[in-house]
Amino acid sequence: MRYCGKYQVPSPRFRTWNVEFGRCLEFGIRSLEFVFVFVACLLCAPPVPATTVSPKEFTCPLDGTKFTGRVLVSTDKLGGMDSDFCSWPKGTPGLPYEVQVCPKCFYASRNEFFNDALPEAVKKSLETVLKKWRQDHAEAKTADELSGGQRWELAAVSGIVKNDHPPLMGNLWLRAAWAARQAVMSDLHLALGDPMSSFEQLDAMEADLKEEKDPQKIIEETFRLVLGSQRAGDVKRRDAHLKKLEEMKLSQDETSRLAALKKAFAAEALYQERAIASFNVALEKGLANPEERHVYLYLVADMTRRLGKNAEAVTLYKKVIGSEQVRPDIRKMCEFLINWLQGD
Ligand SMILES: [Zn+2]
Repeated sequence: MRYCGKYQVPSPRFRTWNVEFGRCLEFGIRSLEFVFVFVACLLCAPPVPATTVSPKEFTCPLDGTKFTGRVLVSTDKLGGMDSDFCSWPKGTPGLPYEVQVCPKCFYASRNEFFNDALPEAVKKSLETVLKKWRQDHAEAKTADELSGGQRWELAAVSGIVKNDHPPLMGNLWLRAAWAARQAVMSDLHLALGDPMSSFEQLDAMEADLKEEKDPQKIIEETFRLVLGSQRAGDVKRRDAHLKKLEEMKLSQDETSRLAALKKAFAAEALYQERAIASFNVALEKGLANPEERHVYLYLVADMTRRLGKNAEAVTLYKKVIGSEQVRPDIRKMCEFLINWLQGD
């Protein structure tokens, strides 16, 4: 900028002020630009994916019952993933909507196979088996009352009668275990991150709990630690906090919650034992695809750890590492868990 004439030459002070004002103006404009870009990004960004379901008509191949089921359309993995590949959405778990259960006879199967016709001999056996299951689980009078884990359990029970392939059976039981876990802690909102950092987070939660003085907060935080430990598969830590809860003075609701949790943990363990048995049959009989063998072996190892059998789990994790062409993420997880279990 050039000035002509004596009154047009700004004083050094004015020049400084003018330069500062210019800088402020420029900064203001840039800030506004930033705000505009930020708002535009917010407006144009795709919405956060959520679990969505839609109605679909099904016909039970066992008794011809027609019903409208809810089918999973989309979900997300924003809640992280556990060491056994159980992925968590930010909101409602979608697993229960991947299987259908006939409201009349409780026959269950994955959505895509539900309507498939069944041989007569299989139908007869299914009727007997499902009737027995309902007698043993009288608490669920209607299909709507079934838990997510029970929906997958019924799909697996139906799968046994249909003589489904062992790897498929292992996957059904594995999902029953995932659904049982998610059903009791979908409101936990624990950002455990990757499975390997979950133990550090649990350590931090324990340190915070030691500082807590409020009796009610101590109860709440201990419940969270029980749930977090279950999700991380740290049975020893879970049981230590369960014991503490049992020794505390709990309200009626808290006592019921504790009983429900223990029941859900027992159900998850039962499903894991069955998944291990099915995957082991697949491995022993050579029924798994060669590239999937180490994945099944890893799942057996991880579920063994989740059942509290740490020494056995270490041997199995080592066996996974010794397999041919191990997936890098699986190798990393095995190495971490061997170290963690051996340092325990
Ligand atoms: Zn039916």
